[in-house]
Order: sequence, then structure tokens, then C-alpha cells
Amino acid sequence: MSNKRRSGMTDKNLRLQFTMFNKKFFENRLGAWKVEFKKMKGMLGLCVYDNHTIYILDELRKFPDVVCVTLLHEMAHASLPEYESYQHFDDHGPQFHVKIDHLYKMGAYDGLL
Ligand SMILES: [Zn+2]
Repeated sequence: MSNKRRSGMTDKNLRLQFTMFNKKFFENRLGAWKVEFKKMKGMLGLCVYDNHTIYILDELRKFPDVVCVTLLHEMAHASLPEYESYQHFDDHGPQFHVKIDHLYKMGAYDGLL
């Protein structure tokens, strides 16, 4: 296995994936958002409203399918206002669940799950 393959997705790959999903499933409404890999503990992805940035766990670079599923999840958060996206107790609000269901029906997860 080459070094290139072992190191997996680059930040550029991630941004291209984001751009593709944004166009295909979010009507290009997430243009203000940035996306980058980041070393984190205890989470696969994170959506930060304050600086409009989605972070994906650095260790996932080697698993593009997991990156895609995580990215779609965080983009669903980004597409909703924070108060619609999260709920105090179980993390995800009803609007968030509707959004994920919609993505699924649009085929966003085809070949990934
Ligand atoms: Zn979430």
C-alpha cells in the first residue's frame, strides 16, 4: 500500500466532497461554511455555528465512506438554525430528524450504508 493511499483523504478531497453534497442535496445553501479535518476526542464530527465550520475527525481520513456519512450529518446540522437542529436532552431536534429522513429519500446514503 502506498503512502498516499494509507494517508487517505486530504483536506482538499474533503472540501470537494462538501461542495458536491452542497450542490446535490442542499441547493448550494451552505456556501458560507468551511470544512476541515481536526483531531478530536469522543466525536466523529462537529458543527460549529459561531465560525460556520464543520470539523471531521482526523482519524477518519482513511475511511471515506464514514467521512461521507459524518459529513452529511454535520451538513444537516449546518442547514438548520442551531435551535432547530439541537434539542436539550437527546441532542437532535425534530427538524434535524426530518432533514436526515429527507436526505435518505434523496439517495444521499446510497452506497454508503
Ligand atoms: Zn448530530
